[in-house]
Amino acid sequence: MGGKVVILGSVNVDLLVSTPRLPLAGETVSGSSLTRQLGGKGANQAVGAARAGAHCILLAAVGKDEDGASMIAALAGHGVDVERVRATSSATGCALVATSPHDNQIIHIAGANSDVDAALAAEVDLGPADVCLAQMETPAPATAVLFRRARTLGAFTILNAAPASTGARELLPLCDLLIVNEGELALLAGSDVGPMLDDNGLLSSRTRLGLEHAQILLVTLGADGLAIISENKVQRIAGRPAKVIDTTGAGDCFCGYLAAGLARGDTIERAAAEANAAASIAVQSFGAAASIPDRATVLQCLG
Ligand code: ADP
Repeated sequence: MGGKVVILGSVNVDLLVSTPRLPLAGETVSGSSLTRQLGGKGANQAVGAARAGAHCILLAAVGKDEDGASMIAALAGHGVDVERVRATSSATGCALVATSPHDNQIIHIAGANSDVDAALAAEVDLGPADVCLAQMETPAPATAVLFRRARTLGAFTILNAAPASTGARELLPLCDLLIVNEGELALLAGSDVGPMLDDNGLLSSRTRLGLEHAQILLVTLGADGLAIISENKVQRIAGRPAKVIDTTGAGDCFCGYLAAGLARGDTIERAAAEANAAASIAVQSFGAAASIPDRATVLQCLG
């Protein structure tokens, strides 16, 4: 049976517009194809965990507005348990994303995501088989409450310290597994990205983070896959070949799948291999949540 995945995190409506080139300051350019879609790291990772077959409960906040209602409906449509997504008096979080063939620009309004609080984290049922996952797009004090409760009740805690933020440092003592990409690791460990990525660099970054013996560091390396760093050992899983179309949300797909694998009772190596395959499929089509494959497709790819 396995445990459930509890994700505390952000829900946004993403407003995507494409344009041949991004405007300079004060300039107006013509865009095309405005689309609204589900976004936010919490929402994307919840879709990842649900697609991977987990019972995934999302702890989040949206506005009492049309966007909030449609994002909740979209999450439920993807199989996420939305019973604990609260509607507050703030507007639903929003990301304005302008993309050109060369670059993109994003303006983010946190809105109701700032209303995610300790009460939301204090209510959910947790047991030893469960896995809790949080990121840095919602207030850290709520994550701290969830992780402290999880640890008391024997559940496993995962911090995905994204987007890069030094505020994640206060949560490090509370996580069993820390997932970061190269840029997030450089910021948190205070090191340069290049030399940090060989085995010795990864081991010394882990030491600089002050992680304890039992804590695990997992660094995602884009096309190069990932590395799992314990106190004195680095295990690498190579990236899988992919014809890249859009890498948006690759890390979110990875985290959701990894959490689902651990909740199922898989080893971290097995769960990471599946997450790596899922994310390599996700980068081959457009969108974040929309590009996350189902588990049957991932298992077929792993052969
Ligand atoms: P983020 O999206 O958080 O910046 P990464 O770029 O490290 O994180 O990507 C997360 C995971 O997505 C990687 O560990 C890998 O499994 C997969 N991935 C990302 N880019 C590629 C790629 N070009 N080819 C194959 N897999 C990829």
